[in-house]
Amino acid sequence: MQINDKRALRKELIIRRRQVDKRIKSEMDKAIADNVLASDCYKSADSLLIYISTEIEVDTRQIIMQAFKDEKAVYAPRCMAGDGEMCFCKISSFNDLEPGYKGILEPNSSCQGLVHAGKMLCAVPALAYDLQGFRLGYGKGYYDRFLAGFTCQKLGICYDEFILDDVFRDKHDVPVDMIISDKREIFIDDRREE
Ligand code: ADP
Ligand code: MG
Repeated sequence: MQINDKRALRKELIIRRRQVDKRIKSEMDKAIADNVLASDCYKSADSLLIYISTEIEVDTRQIIMQAFKDEKAVYAPRCMAGDGEMCFCKISSFNDLEPGYKGILEPNSSCQGLVHAGKMLCAVPALAYDLQGFRLGYGKGYYDRFLAGFTCQKLGICYDEFILDDVFRDKHDVPVDMIISDKREIFIDDRREE
């Protein structure tokens, strides 16, 4: 199949994600969690804004569990399906989560919204990244909208085999500052070409 646009690539990558062997996935998840937890950006963060992974995404549970132990403030996203906006609310345990938009676990209604809480690190999910830090998401632009209006350090987490040459970036796409995969840590050069 010829892939020459964002939608076709997204479709193809979702198929490829579903095909990843479960045992290999959990090894890659563990490697990514280890790399994130060993990184300076994680260690220096006071607050961690982090998605609750679905089956095909890089697993975030190990990272979140350690963040609780490290006494970081942990915030998880809640999507407002109607207007395409997303907010982050504080969770203190996995018991604070309940199924929300598309059945994805999200903070329940008693969780407090985000306050500017020290140094914030946002772990940004994607189907794929390019080496300039641009991402291909699931096609709703939630993270582009959120990140456009919010200043924090942005960490892309991604399986190495899903770091590609081209993700068909658009003008509204917001790049991350660095990417951590199961194999490497990539710092995005600020002098990137437009
Ligand atoms: P994803 O980032 O999930 O891969 P896209 O980048 O294709 O998805 O964006 C999905 C939609 O969200 C696009 O139609 C885009 O116009 C819209 N969008 C993205 N960022 C913004 C923004 N900051 N303000 C308004 N609409 C946006
Ligand atoms: Mg986008």
